[in-house]
Amino acid sequence: MTTWRSSAVELGKAFRNRSVKVADVVTSLWLHHDQVEPSVKSYLTTFQSETMAQAQVLDAQFDRGETLPLLAGIPIAIKDNIHVQGVPTTCASQILKGFIPPFNATVTDRLQAQQVIVTGKTNLDEFAMGSSTENSSFHTSLNPWDTSRVPGGSSGGSAAAVAAGQAVVSLGSDTGGSIRQPAAFCGVVGMKPTYGRVSRYGLVAFASSLDQIGPFSRTVEDAALVLEAISGFDAHDATSSPRLSESYYSSLKPTVAGLKIGVPKELFGSEIDPGVKAQVVAALDLLKANGATWEEIAMPSLKEAVTTYYIIAPAEASANLSRFDGVRYGYRDGGADNLRDMFRQSRGGGFGPEVKRRIIIGTYVLSSGYYDAYYTKAQKLRSLIVRDFAHAFQKYDVIMTPTTPSVAFKLGEHEANPLAMYLADIATIPVNMAGLPAISVPCGLDQGLPVGLQIIGPAFGDQQILNVAAGFQELSQFPTRFQSPLMRSTQ
Ligand code: GLN
Repeated sequence: MTTWRSSAVELGKAFRNRSVKVADVVTSLWLHHDQVEPSVKSYLTTFQSETMAQAQVLDAQFDRGETLPLLAGIPIAIKDNIHVQGVPTTCASQILKGFIPPFNATVTDRLQAQQVIVTGKTNLDEFAMGSSTENSSFHTSLNPWDTSRVPGGSSGGSAAAVAAGQAVVSLGSDTGGSIRQPAAFCGVVGMKPTYGRVSRYGLVAFASSLDQIGPFSRTVEDAALVLEAISGFDAHDATSSPRLSESYYSSLKPTVAGLKIGVPKELFGSEIDPGVKAQVVAALDLLKANGATWEEIAMPSLKEAVTTYYIIAPAEASANLSRFDGVRYGYRDGGADNLRDMFRQSRGGGFGPEVKRRIIIGTYVLSSGYYDAYYTKAQKLRSLIVRDFAHAFQKYDVIMTPTTPSVAFKLGEHEANPLAMYLADIATIPVNMAGLPAISVPCGLDQGLPVGLQIIGPAFGDQQILNVAAGFQELSQFPTRFQSPLMRSTQ
């Protein structure tokens, strides 16, 4: 039966042949949501009554035989650092208290043009800084596979919502792994498109040279469908690519045979848990048994990627976050009697500890005495990473790595050690540094928890990695194999 458990593609077909009503899917999705939300806490806001009204309108349109866009009626959740006009954007921070964006993000505009049903705004680490949602100033979201564990981050709410069946697809943002890492932890598909492929207009900026919006879904087809809807040039974002966007969904062609895969040995040694590595090797061997070839390659600069990131990302964040000053947006501390104290107290009270750590690091590495020693050097290292990838793509069609070095960790496990948290992104950060597209797909279980396989492509090879992911999906049948216990909890 076609329900909220189905993919967007299946739902779209059922809406069109009228075997299922949008209103029935929306009603049953909220019934299920009400059961699982207390254990997962994916959302910061939900739009239950609005979605019901919208569903009725859509059903009437479908009944009249109108031709509606492919995503019409599909329930989609949006990370709460992406603007939806007229409802709060919190970035899971206290400093945005009371802020309601007067405009839509471009991705929201494009989804609304497709008549999607926006279910709500999902939880994240404050300003997308973190790998577990534990830095949210509201609450931590939990992993639908094991609620004593984190869903990953920073887009943990968006990943958990799709994995728990509280949305069919969702949007996240990825600066150093924030879509792919939670996708891997929650056993769903998560894609970071090529830098510039999707407009960042209306996404609250963290590190502007790295940020990119992308989809979460349970199937590769759905990721392609959402990417097709949101990608393409936008005059509001100066870094948006003028290159024509592809019809990722209709052009999807599962590809495995003849594929040349490079596996960087820097991300395939002792830094990866043996249980995770075993699943990734099994996935690579499955591809090999079906006509692909894989071999280990050297990409020495990848070892420096995390260090480089923790100079460049905080540097950009310190500049981007200077706009939150108690004057222009959200929270203002009312107790100050002069301007300087008002700035200090508003920022001091409004930002959480991880955000403050990044602002301090960023301000330091950009300060005149240290700029060359840190920031300039990091930019040079970034060039080496770009070069290593360019070199690898001369020989290989795609690069594959484990998405994360371990499966989802326990709540609080990395609380006292930010460095351990930062290392959750060793395999995802290099991709942002080089601006490349990458997708994480579920490939196995370790200790009963999902393991992600990361497929990286050359710049604007978004279609290519979707094709490879679709090929792997055909072989491994992961959408039917990877359903979280919470997804199955309602009849
Ligand atoms: N976990 C990384 C960080 O804390 C990446 C976050 C992201 O991609 N937004 O910065």
